[in-house]
Amino acid sequence: MTHLKLDNVTKEYSDVVAVDGMNLDIEDGEFISLIGPSGCGKSTTLETISGLTKPTGGHIEIAGNDVTDAAPKDRDIAMVFQNIALFPHMTVEENLTFGLRLKNYEQEAIDDRVSQAADILQIEGMLDRMPDELSGGQRQRVAIGRAIVMDPEVFLMDEPLANLDAKLRVHMRTELQRLQQELDVTTVYVTHDQAEAMTMSDRIAIINHGELQQFAPPLECYNEPANLFVAGFVGSPSMRFVQGEVNDGILTDSKFGITLDTSSSVKIEDNRQISLGIRPEDVYLANNETVGNATEPIALEVDVVQPLGDKLMVYLRAPDSDLTFESDLDETDQTTSKTDQLLMAVDPSADIEAGQQIDIVLDRSQIHLFDSASGDALVHSLEQKAESVPS
Ligand code: ADP
Repeated sequence: MTHLKLDNVTKEYSDVVAVDGMNLDIEDGEFISLIGPSGCGKSTTLETISGLTKPTGGHIEIAGNDVTDAAPKDRDIAMVFQNIALFPHMTVEENLTFGLRLKNYEQEAIDDRVSQAADILQIEGMLDRMPDELSGGQRQRVAIGRAIVMDPEVFLMDEPLANLDAKLRVHMRTELQRLQQELDVTTVYVTHDQAEAMTMSDRIAIINHGELQQFAPPLECYNEPANLFVAGFVGSPSMRFVQGEVNDGILTDSKFGITLDTSSSVKIEDNRQISLGIRPEDVYLANNETVGNATEPIALEVDVVQPLGDKLMVYLRAPDSDLTFESDLDETDQTTSKTDQLLMAVDPSADIEAGQQIDIVLDRSQIHLFDSASGDALVHSLEQKAESVPS
């Protein structure tokens, strides 16, 4: 059983807290991803697990043993990095067997492991080749093979697909998933690519400024984001937010003219500042009859229309807003909360043009409310029954 546990792990450098009180309890055979914006502490967290970095606080356990002070070689882990560091002067087979030879394995055991890894990764025909005779994807498979032959308790992977082109990345993603199902080894995977994390992981750990924001299955993070950061980070294009104030259970905002009775789902005291979150797929044209429980129509102006083939993304603003258009289809900026626009995904056949005035509705069952000050989620649907929420 390879249970991996991070207990209040902290890593401070002189001027920055790279990892801040991280608690992760990872089950045997689980595939988890560490995800968050650049500089949030993903790699440092992974390095504390590997032993390449010593935490300044907290403990790390692998299979029930406290390894906080153990050397990397004594942790029974194998690592795969973004930069595929194959030995250029060695054949694929020599690269695969290098680690085993260092550990003085018998030839028979080496042969068995290499043939098994080569079979799993479908690189049997390449064992005699040199690294420069391989494609990027093949090289990455050999790098993963080098980790597999060590038969570790834990795999640690730091953006292993980041240097591959987009198509190959999607292909390797599927291969890694298959591999994980076959090997069933506890895996911690670092990526900044949320699509990668969502598709491969049993659970994702979303990190911001060194702090864990949510650790849950991908769909739970998507459907029930714990706070504003997770809500804005998971999903692309991301959730949009409207700032409002609640009085007598009625949420009103000053930008879009939204008036929304929240009282049947959530009790909110007067004057509380609230962020309403809604995903593009939960915003509809007002004449759409498929929405079960729609809000009152909201009159808006179409700012920009982006055809994506399977749908149209319609950026909306208040009629007299001086907002300038901001797209987030560019995934490099995943952290900005978009608060001055609503975004609607509609059927590509919809006849919508920039500058047009339209009425839209929100699906009440998909409206999320957050406390604006703390960022904490209050409720994930305005259809559910009122429960008391933390004040
Ligand atoms: P990520 O992997 O999420 O991009 P990192 O874990 O690499 O983030 O870095 C987290 C923070 O710690 C960043 O602010 C980074 O600048 C800082 N950091 C990382 N390594 C060092 C180091 N050796 N010395 C000082 N600061 C570091």
